Amino acid sequence: MNANGGIPFLDLVTPHRELEAELVSVFRAALDTAGFVGGPMVEGFEREFAAFCDAAHCVGVASGTDALRFALIAAGVKPGDTVVTVPNTFIATTEAISQVGARFDFVDVDEHTYTMDPEKLRFYLEAECTRDVGMNRPRSRRTGGPVTAVVPVHLYGQTADMDPILDLASRYNLSVIEDACQAHGAEYFSMKEHRWRKAGSMGQAAAFSFYPGKNLGACGEAGAVTTNDEALAREVRMLRDHGQSRKYHHAVEGYNGRLDAIQAGILRVKLQHLTHWNEQRSWSAKRYDELFAPMAGSVTIPYRPAWSKPVYHLYVIHTANRDELQKYLTEAGIGTGIHYPIPVHLQAAYAELGWKRGDFPVSEDAADQLLSLPMFPGLRAEDQRRVVEAVAEFASVRSTG
Ligand SMILES: *Cc1c(COP(=O)(O)O)cnc(C)c1O
Repeated sequence: MNANGGIPFLDLVTPHRELEAELVSVFRAALDTAGFVGGPMVEGFEREFAAFCDAAHCVGVASGTDALRFALIAAGVKPGDTVVTVPNTFIATTEAISQVGARFDFVDVDEHTYTMDPEKLRFYLEAECTRDVGMNRPRSRRTGGPVTAVVPVHLYGQTADMDPILDLASRYNLSVIEDACQAHGAEYFSMKEHRWRKAGSMGQAAAFSFYPGKNLGACGEAGAVTTNDEALAREVRMLRDHGQSRKYHHAVEGYNGRLDAIQAGILRVKLQHLTHWNEQRSWSAKRYDELFAPMAGSVTIPYRPAWSKPVYHLYVIHTANRDELQKYLTEAGIGTGIHYPIPVHLQAAYAELGWKRGDFPVSEDAADQLLSLPMFPGLRAEDQRRVVEAVAEFASVRSTG
């Protein structure tokens, strides 16, 4: 509960208040050394976050969007290439592709998980692409460019179904860049390898965001690329720092996309709590699941396949009359969110690309009917009961009114 007796969608104040002494000492250490960009705090965080993701390398950058952009470039995506992703995501996914000079094609998401549907990816590669003889690469009929990479998005804290995606990618010679910006610590059971794999360790590279509201959030902007490919990591290190191989030796033209030391120090402190915070989110999700069980006909809870250990960045329900329900909850003092109200293919920014309603029906349904409920570490059981009671009240008011 917050000060007004309401239940917030997200509580970013309490965790920082609890860690205040440690966070302030990070700032003090940075002042003492004037090491504000790069340096030992950044390197320490990179080591620790790579280990957390079971990845060999981590390169800290300035945002999740930078991480996606640098990962794509370092994986060899060139201007004129086409990269496949999903429309049910945050626009940063496609911004990064465009900013590399590439174009994007979409395949729709699965109707249960809302992440990339591998069957639709297969159909896209088989039916919506031609095959370049010699190049061993599909060519998009829509863009005319060679398809060189795929970006599955691990949405709401759950990974995409990676085994079939990785299979298709290797068959069609595509790089896989995971958008893991909502999936710090999420796990996927690979039947192929008979083991759990961490988000950020499965593709050629992965992008993480540490925007404040993410499961691991900075006190400002930050991001990271993880990879098992040492050459790719080296390339990202150059790209984030003006293409420098060493000071004032610019091997390529790069960017100003470094991680600053204060954010890295803050992330190190918070990383120590991430496993516990993710567990708390899972407990809260389980409690919501149980509370919603009697409403199974009208509220669909998040689907969790046997291959998934999600970290519940968001707890997203599917219901009819979503907008009215959201209004009802707002009036009851309960914060909610919509992720996302307009699927990327229907955004004004992409109007000239000519997509229309009906092109990706599952993503469109997600935009119309999904609602994100309060979800954060420390969410209280009694507040969850109040949320679910309010959803039930809305359903009964509608059916009797
Ligand atoms: C947050 C997010 C991003 C972008 O991260 P920034 O740090 O805000 O640049 C990209 N993709 C997804 C799915 C995200 O949720």
